[in-house]
Amino acid sequence: MKSSAQPTWHQALANIAEAEVSFELPLAPRTSFRMGGPAEAFAVVHSRAALGAVLGLTRAEGVPLFVWGGGSNLLVADQGVRGLVLKLGDGFDYLRPLTAGGATARWEIGAACSAARALRQSTKEGLAGLEMLAGVPGTLGGAVKMNAGGREGALSTSLRRVELWQGEAPRWAEAAELGFAYRTSQLPPDSVVVALEVELVPTAVETLRARIEAAIQRRRATQPLNAPSAGSVFKNPTQGHAGQLIEAAGCKGWREGGAEVSPVHANFIVNQNRARAIDAWRLIERVRAQVLQHSGITLELEVRLVGSFAQEVRS
Ligand SMILES: Cc1cc2nc3c(=O)[nH]c(=O)nc-3n(C[C@H](O)[C@H](O)[C@H](O)COP(=O)(O)OP(=O)(O)OC[C@H]3O[C@@H](n4cnc5c(N)ncnc54)[C@H](O)[C@@H]3O)c2cc1C
Repeated sequence: MKSSAQPTWHQALANIAEAEVSFELPLAPRTSFRMGGPAEAFAVVHSRAALGAVLGLTRAEGVPLFVWGGGSNLLVADQGVRGLVLKLGDGFDYLRPLTAGGATARWEIGAACSAARALRQSTKEGLAGLEMLAGVPGTLGGAVKMNAGGREGALSTSLRRVELWQGEAPRWAEAAELGFAYRTSQLPPDSVVVALEVELVPTAVETLRARIEAAIQRRRATQPLNAPSAGSVFKNPTQGHAGQLIEAAGCKGWREGGAEVSPVHANFIVNQNRARAIDAWRLIERVRAQVLQHSGITLELEVRLVGSFAQEVRS
């Protein structure tokens, strides 16, 4: 039973049809890093009507909104997140061919579709264009926001349009308008990626499988995939690879509480032993300071911080 001290928007949120709402929901099990505190409110919306109603409510009541994908690029503060964490549910998990049989094919993909599923399906159909997502966890919504990718390129190279929900109703935006660059995009604030349109190129299935296998093998050989992490902590600066700079600065194997700079790949922080977010955060700050001192380069975070870290550092 919720006490009368709860904000009024909690009850209004709980009443929205086709939205699964929880309060004070632990987020750590929903992140690949396995750390961090709860969400004040967490809503999984299963339909567009539910999404519209939730966004209408957050706007009307001024509720802070965080859009959650697969939780694979996030460091959530130990105190958790105030406001609403919104996740797209089953109604947004789909792949729909729009055109086929030409020199290229267009697909619409729901933002809740996992990168793994989209890649599996496009490979099976002999369509190239999503191989940069090989081994990238999470959803297509998160991959759009982060412009995910690797050596094979970034998602933005295949992306043509993005359906965004911001304000009253969804609209399709041309990818060229959305400021995609290395691991970043300029989506309008508080906008939700609902779907995307990609252009794929017919290619022999064996060629695609070989490309993907090579990418996966490279990851297995170079990344600490057996321990919880959020992938690369820092972006590669223009001057080189973040991992090499961190290693050269002598940070490999550094620890704070249960968090460790991976001895396998220095740009990964791994949760070795029930790390708290503050452990990871302190390690991030120490590594950043050491790299700056050693090479004069300020590393920029690739991992997204959720909740307040300034408070944690003070406490
Ligand atoms: C082992 C490992 C390896 C990784 N390797 C790579 C790699 O090679 N290349 C790479 O680019 N990344 C990599 N990552 C990072 C991560 O998987 C990608 O950034 C991924 O695309 C994030 O997707 P997600 O759904 O988990 O997003 P989340 O982590 O949930 O969110 C990331 C950001 O996207 C926003 N977001 C999520 N969904 C939506 C939506 N529907 N609408 C609007 N905003 C949204 C969030 O608000 C947040 O700002 C790796 C992570 C791990 C754990």
